[in-house]
Amino acid sequence: MSGLEGRNALVTGGSRGIGRAISLRLAEMGANVAVNYANSQSAAEEVASEIADLGVIAKTYKADVSDRESCEAMVAQAISDFGQIDILINNAGIGSSGIDRPTVTEATYDQFNLLIGANLWGPIHMCKALVPHMRDAARSDIVMISSVATDSYSERMGLYSIGKAGMEALAYTLAKEERVHGMRVNVVAPGLVDTDMGRKLITLLPGSDDMRERDATAPFGFVCTPEDIAAAVAYLVSEDGRYLTNQRIAVNGGGF
Ligand code: NAP
Repeated sequence: MSGLEGRNALVTGGSRGIGRAISLRLAEMGANVAVNYANSQSAAEEVASEIADLGVIAKTYKADVSDRESCEAMVAQAISDFGQIDILINNAGIGSSGIDRPTVTEATYDQFNLLIGANLWGPIHMCKALVPHMRDAARSDIVMISSVATDSYSERMGLYSIGKAGMEALAYTLAKEERVHGMRVNVVAPGLVDTDMGRKLITLLPGSDDMRERDATAPFGFVCTPEDIAAAVAYLVSEDGRYLTNQRIAVNGGGF
């Protein structure tokens, strides 16, 4: 699938895992890519180098998405560098496994601030900073990388689910408010994906700690890959997805 020539994407958390795969997939389709990272500078630079090898432009931007001023500075720099950003992928996130899955009452306010900061304030800051600018494009797209955690609201997933539910509410509201400006806003909700976050999560869940052993019991005989998530994002922002907005695609092999 090509068709993103001349478009410019900003991918939060583009240094690793799902964001890395999305950055590369959009570049393969012809888009220039602003790759955001928080800590993993060398990984982000590797992604940018792989993107440059595809013949499009990539630049890296260090910013903690939970910090409003960092987001505003990143957006201003990316617009200055690319002229226009017309695809925003709100992918950066922190899993509940990153804080050892406390219950709501066990969780400290620091833990709430960490997860709500990355998973909800991040998308809010990015949308507040970028949406007014994106209205200038004939077509623009925002994709929020949520989670099937918002289907189940499982115990010990509360801090994560609360952030992702808020992120989805942001998407569906913007879809209605911004359609008049040519903006499509959609949600992709992965199940378990084979990334650093996914590998940490399975150590805290029943079953094998080895992702390859989990393939046998996963839908279709394999655990979802970052590229499977990137493919759904690619479809949404492509010409084929031009009539889709206000939608949520769960990429979890059916999930039952
Ligand atoms: P990952 O392997 O842990 O990678 C997380 C990415 O987000 C990294 O690039 C990291 O950047 C970035 N990041 C984290 N906090 C950030 C912050 N405050 N500011 C900027 N960047 C930040 O995770 P992943 O599995 O690829 O997850 C990507 C998204 O998919 C997340 O939103 C996650 O909730 C969602 N998801 C994942 C799974 C799964 O099973 N893996 C399932 C459902 C949903 P640095 O490396 O620079 O710190």
